[in-house]
Amino acid sequence: MTSEAPETVYDVAVIGGGPAGLSAALNLVRARRRVLLIDSNRPRNSATLLSHGFLTRDGISPLELRRLGREEFLGYEGAEHRMTMVQSVTAGPDGFVLDCELRKKTSRAVARTVIAATGLQETLPDIPGLRAFYGTSYHSCIECDGYDKRDQPIAVIGEHADLAQRALLLSQWSDDLLVCTNGADVVRSLDEEMLDSRGIAVDRRVIAEIEGGREGATGIRFDDGTVVERSGGFVRPSWSSELGYLAPLGADLDADELLVVDAHGRTSVPSLYAAGETTGPGPQQLIVAAGIGAAVAATINRDLVGGLSDLSDAVE
Ligand SMILES: Cc1cc2nc3c(=O)[nH]c(=O)nc-3n(C[C@H](O)[C@H](O)[C@H](O)COP(=O)(O)OP(=O)(O)OC[C@H]3O[C@@H](n4cnc5c(N)ncnc54)[C@H](O)[C@@H]3O)c2cc1C
Repeated sequence: MTSEAPETVYDVAVIGGGPAGLSAALNLVRARRRVLLIDSNRPRNSATLLSHGFLTRDGISPLELRRLGREEFLGYEGAEHRMTMVQSVTAGPDGFVLDCELRKKTSRAVARTVIAATGLQETLPDIPGLRAFYGTSYHSCIECDGYDKRDQPIAVIGEHADLAQRALLLSQWSDDLLVCTNGADVVRSLDEEMLDSRGIAVDRRVIAEIEGGREGATGIRFDDGTVVERSGGFVRPSWSSELGYLAPLGADLDADELLVVDAHGRTSVPSLYAAGETTGPGPQQLIVAAGIGAAVAATINRDLVGGLSDLSDAVE
């Protein structure tokens, strides 16, 4: 890392250029703040071709949504964007020091305030073939993609205790539903009876492979060789946050390792804020993340203006 003093002290460094970070950055630069947006360009939804449910942008490609967001932000004075990865954030004499590195290229930035908007990472169940159909035939966000699976023969695959709940929700879109536990003991017998009463079957066998071809998934092959025809459906990933870059600051995390924030996005570390899926309850939707980003931006601007002894209730 370079030891030279950086020239600029940004008002705000936004870490993460998804909808939460982009929306925060746009609103802050419109508040005439000098804003550095740092993004490693690894969005959680990159597996999918179309994003749904974002007002006026229903069906847009995720990359196009981000491109438009960056373009709007960069149209304002005081806006800067760097494609790199923040490796650590530490406290320095002029503010937070952000050390970044991408493909062995290092850089450093200093900012009075920081927003962590770095989203979540997800791990799919270890089922051969599943990754190839993720984002096209199989999805994770029911609210986002349920409509596009309406009235189709679909599966809901998962190894977590919320599987029965997810199946119930999906029955709003399809009545030809198969619940697959992939051998995990995650559906209680009482819940299985309830699902059965609604015509939803539970299959507890281990899945050997998701079958299909260029046109998409066609079926599920179980470990006994039986194939059940399914054109796709939903899978429940495991979600995790990668917040190691904030470790030097010691911000409070909840039981899911997400940043604890107050109602306005303030973390337990003064001048460190968080927006989007780095905070509870975790996975949501693009427009929700963008909305939270805008709300946190308003809080930061008011906190930077300062003047009152206690601003905690000042945001309407
Ligand atoms: C397959 C799939 C399909 C989806 N489809 C839809 C849909 O149709 N409609 C919908 O509303 N929602 C959809 N979602 C959910 C949506 O993607 C998320 O709700 C949304 O992206 C969360 O926004 P975010 O800004 O919190 O995080 P993200 O969008 O994940 O953005 C976080 C950003 O931070 C960056 N980053 C991470 N760590 C660092 C670091 N250390 N330094 C710098 N940058 C970093 C990442 O590269 C990433 O660009 C989908 C999700 C998935 C997985």
